[in-house]
Amino acid sequence: MMSEISENIRRISFEIEEAKAKYRKSDEHIDIMAVTKTVEPERVNEAIECGLSLLGENRVQEYISKKDFYDKSADVHFIGSLQTNKVKYIIDSVSMIQSVDSLKLANEIDRQAKKHNLVMNILLEVNIGEEITKGGFAPQALDENIFEISKLENVRICGLMTIPPPNCEKFLYKMQKLFIDKKAKKYDNVTMDILSMGMSGDYVEAVKYGSNIVRLGTAIFGKRNYPI
Ligand SMILES: *Cc1c(COP(=O)(O)O)cnc(C)c1O
Repeated sequence: MMSEISENIRRISFEIEEAKAKYRKSDEHIDIMAVTKTVEPERVNEAIECGLSLLGENRVQEYISKKDFYDKSADVHFIGSLQTNKVKYIIDSVSMIQSVDSLKLANEIDRQAKKHNLVMNILLEVNIGEEITKGGFAPQALDENIFEISKLENVRICGLMTIPPPNCEKFLYKMQKLFIDKKAKKYDNVTMDILSMGMSGDYVEAVKYGSNIVRLGTAIFGKRNYPI
């Protein structure tokens, strides 16, 4: 009998393949990230066994308490809001920080990465709906911040991440246009290859609009007992 997690992953993979066949080039790759908040490591490892190789972590404390129990074959990206004083706890165990939402945070990541003699991959989080309740750079502030952050030696901007307002394709479209526009500017020391967009409620639409990492919690693991 198949477990709920493996059944979910099969269904999600199928839906993504379908959307990809319809809307995207055949050589494009779309990563499915397992978002692990509130999920016990055993169940996270089950998702890894089913073939997922990318985990998304929201909270430093929770990640630190769980990481030693994760199957080491998976890559980990940090995706939650990150205070500058906590960067030091994750700098040497994640391969990307997707939620960079200020120059101050980028500077601290650069400083800590330097200490560890590494270059940290980052995405800039964009507040595409310009909602006051959400973090991220305003679309119109992006150019000057890409320019400033691209000067830092120990971080590399790899693309953009967003949490758009729910149920509104308009913002996915807007985000795709923004991503293409920033990519076309060919900033030095910036590789605009990753658009991290799409969660359990909108991942099929996100694939339509150019996402190459969808971040899924509920769709893989089921409903969380308490919201974060
Ligand atoms: C929780 C979370 C997700 C996944 O949300 P689901 O709706 O459960 O798929 C994706 N991205 C971020 C930044 C999150 O905090």
